[in-house]
Amino acid sequence: MRTQYFEYLAPSSIEEAVKMLKEYEEAKILAGGQSLIPLLKTRITVFPYLVSLSSIPGLSYISLDKDKLRLGPMTVVSDIEYSGDLMKRLPVLTEAASQIADPLVRNMGTVGGNVSHADPSNDMPPVMLALRARFTVQGGPSGTREIRASDFFVDTFQTAMNHDEILREISVDLPEGAPQAPT
Ligand SMILES: Cc1cc2nc3c(=O)[nH]c(=O)nc-3n(C[C@H](O)[C@H](O)[C@H](O)COP(=O)(O)OP(=O)(O)OC[C@H]3O[C@@H](n4cnc5c(N)ncnc54)[C@H](O)[C@@H]3O)c2cc1C
Repeated sequence: MRTQYFEYLAPSSIEEAVKMLKEYEEAKILAGGQSLIPLLKTRITVFPYLVSLSSIPGLSYISLDKDKLRLGPMTVVSDIEYSGDLMKRLPVLTEAASQIADPLVRNMGTVGGNVSHADPSNDMPPVMLALRARFTVQGGPSGTREIRASDFFVDTFQTAMNHDEILREISVDLPEGAPQAPT
């Protein structure tokens, strides 16, 4: 089945995307589309506006320093799966990434979309809970705020993010004993 008609909005910054979410109450963020588009095809739910994050630069990165990992929300799962640094320093994440669906889904689906969808059958939420990840979200009245993984996942398909908030970064303190970055 095809999706119903929707307007595709392509902001070039997070600020512009937040403005669009505030303006259109029925808008939905679109990342890799691997969960959202199949849902729209069922027509169980309809969003007349999709705010795509694809044209916003700087949202895809894996940054590892001495004791912290930072992930951009638009980092695709396959980039995590094949990150040599992550394989060495946080293999639970690369292993989890490799278990997700198939290469086509992993090349399109993003880590931000995987956690934001809050599907209990997704692989990233339990890993993020176990790693005590923190989610930086942008938008809303407070501008930017940080949510602990234990508070982020509220219910099935429901997170602590408000409609006008966008997941901006995932950070993880590397567990004690994790191999160190080469000096
Ligand atoms: C055939 C198939 C098999 C799959 N199998 C698995 C599997 O085994 N394991 C698994 O974990 N997943 C699986 N998935 C889901 C896949 O991993 C999705 O890609 C992922 O859950 C969503 O990522 P996305 O980038 O595609 O997000 P989208 O589909 O674009 O968005 C998903 C949701 O997150 C919201 N969102 C996205 N990015 C942000 C952001 N930055 N801030 C706020 N909200 C945001 C969207 O509004 C939407 O509600 C499968 C999908 C398919 C099609």
